[in-house]
Amino acid sequence: MTDLRALRSPLSFQLSNLQDLPHHDLLVSEEAWWKTEGIAISHAIDRAGTPWLRMFDRLGKRVDEILYPREYQTILMRGYRSGVVWRALEEKSLIPTYLLIYNISFHDPGICCPYTVSLGTAVPLAKYGSAGLQLRFLPQLLRKDDSVWQGATWMTEIKGGSDLGAAVETIARSAGDGWLLTGEKYFTSNAGAELAVVAARPEGAPAGVRGLALFLVPRYRKNGELNYFIRRLKDKIATRSVPTGEVELKDSEGYLLGTGESGVYLILEVLNLSRVANSVVSVALAQRAMADALSYAEHRIAFAKPILDHPLLRHQFEHRLTSLRSAFALAWESVQLLNDVWMDWPPYSDRYHLFRLVAHLAKYWTAEFAVDTAKWAMEVHGGLGVLAEYGAERWLREAMILAIWEGTSHRQILDGLEVMERRRAHKLLFRRLAEIAPSKELQDLESEVEHHLKLPPEEKEALAEPLFRRLATLTAETLARKSK
Ligand SMILES: Cc1cc2nc3c(=O)[nH]c(=O)nc-3n(C[C@H](O)[C@H](O)[C@H](O)COP(=O)(O)OP(=O)(O)OC[C@H]3O[C@@H](n4cnc5c(N)ncnc54)[C@H](O)[C@@H]3O)c2cc1C
Repeated sequence: MTDLRALRSPLSFQLSNLQDLPHHDLLVSEEAWWKTEGIAISHAIDRAGTPWLRMFDRLGKRVDEILYPREYQTILMRGYRSGVVWRALEEKSLIPTYLLIYNISFHDPGICCPYTVSLGTAVPLAKYGSAGLQLRFLPQLLRKDDSVWQGATWMTEIKGGSDLGAAVETIARSAGDGWLLTGEKYFTSNAGAELAVVAARPEGAPAGVRGLALFLVPRYRKNGELNYFIRRLKDKIATRSVPTGEVELKDSEGYLLGTGESGVYLILEVLNLSRVANSVVSVALAQRAMADALSYAEHRIAFAKPILDHPLLRHQFEHRLTSLRSAFALAWESVQLLNDVWMDWPPYSDRYHLFRLVAHLAKYWTAEFAVDTAKWAMEVHGGLGVLAEYGAERWLREAMILAIWEGTSHRQILDGLEVMERRRAHKLLFRRLAEIAPSKELQDLESEVEHHLKLPPEEKEALAEPLFRRLATLTAETLARKSK
C-alpha cells in the first residue's frame, strides 16, 4: 500500500522528491510560521479581506491608495523578507525563490502572484537596465525588510492578452532622458506597486509584436506626483488578496529596458519567470487539495469504515499521488532549466530552446492537473466540498486562474509547436529523456511529433492538443523516474 504521508506538508513532499534540498532550515521555519499564523490570516482574507481602492484623499487629491487588512502585509512581507526576490539576485540562483514559492503557495497560491511579478521586475532591471537605472531602483526591490518595493508586469490590454502584437495600444514617446507612456492596461496585478515593467510601442516602431518594447514605470514621477492611475480594482473569484486593477498611463514617465528592437525577447523572459512560477504553484495547489482530501477521508465514515479504506477511493489517492510526483518532476525540470538560462541574452542557445519547450509543457499540464485535482478533492469532501466554510472550494477557485494567466493553455500548445518546429527543441527533449529512461514509447512519440510537424498548418494546429498532452505526460513520467 502506498504511503500517503508525504502529502501532508510541502516540506515533506519536497524532501521526498528532491535528491538535494538546499535551504532546508529556511523552509522549516516558513512552514512552522504558516501553521501557527499564516493559514488563519490567508483564509480570513480570502473570505472577507480583499483590498479596496481609495482614489482621492479628503481634499480631492488623487492618491490611488490600496487599502489592505493589516494582516495581509504580515503574510506578504514575510515572503519578501525570507528572500523570495532578493535571494535570486544575491545568491545568483532561482532555486531558493521557487522552493519558497512552492512552500508558500501550498497555503496561499494567490500571494505568490506579487512575488512573481516583483521578481519579473527585478530580473529584467538587473539584466537590461542601464547602470544608472539599476542604481536608482534595484536596491529598493532587493531590500530585506518591510520597506521593500514591489514590482508588477503589465502587458495585457482590453483587446487581448494572447495576441499582444495586435492588442497593445500603449504608445511611448521619447522625452529627455526617458519616455512618456500613454495607454490603458486592463489586467494589472499588484496595482499600487512601486515599479512596473510595461509593454508599449515606441512611436514609429513597426506594427506587431516585434515593435513592442519593455519599459520600467515607477509609481511616482520625479516631482513626486502619481505616475500612473488606478481606475478600479477587479472583483475576482480567486487570488482575492491581490489587487488586480485597471491602470491608466497618461504621459507616464518610463525608462526603456534593453533596446527597442529586443522588447519582444524581454517580454518573453518576464513570462518565462512567471510561467515557471505558475507551474510550481499549480503543483503545490494540487498537493494542498489532496492533503485536505486525505485528512477528511481518514476520518469520514461511510459503510462502517473511513472512506479512505474503501478500495476505489484508496486507489484514486494512490494513482493521483503518482501523477502529483510526475507533475512536480516536470515543474522542477522547468525550474532547473530556467536556472541555467535565465541570464542568457539573445540570440539564445539550444539549452534555452529546450527550456522553452519544457516550460510550455509544464505550464500547460500542471495547470490542467491542478484544476482536475482541486475538483476531485472537492468531490472527496462530498456535499461539504461546495460549502465555503470548509475551504475545499477555495482550491478549485484558485486553480481556475492558473490555466489562463501567463498565457492560456492554447498559447502554451501553439508556442510549444513553434519552438519544436523552428528550433527543433523536441529533438533535444527526446535526447534528454532517452538518457534517463529509453523506451519504445519515447521513440514512437518522437516519430509522431515529427509526422505532426509536417502536417498542413490548419491541421497541425487543430490536432495539436492530444499530442501535446501526451508529450507533457510522458515527459513528466520519465522525469519522475529520474528523481526516484
Ligand atoms: C486575475 C487576473 C490577473 C491578471 N494579471 C495580469 C497582469 O498583471 N498583467 C498582465 O499583463 N496580464 C494579466 N492578466 C491577463 C492574462 O494574462 C490574460 O487574461 C491572458 O493572457 C489571456 O488573455 P485574454 O484574457 O485577453 O484572452 P484572449 O487573448 O482574448 O483569448 C480568448 C480565448 O481565445 C484563445 N485564443 C487566443 N488566440 C488563440 C489561437 N491562436 N488559437 C486558439 N485559441 C486562441 C485563448 O486561449 C482564450 O481561450 C490577468 C488576468 C487575470 C484573470
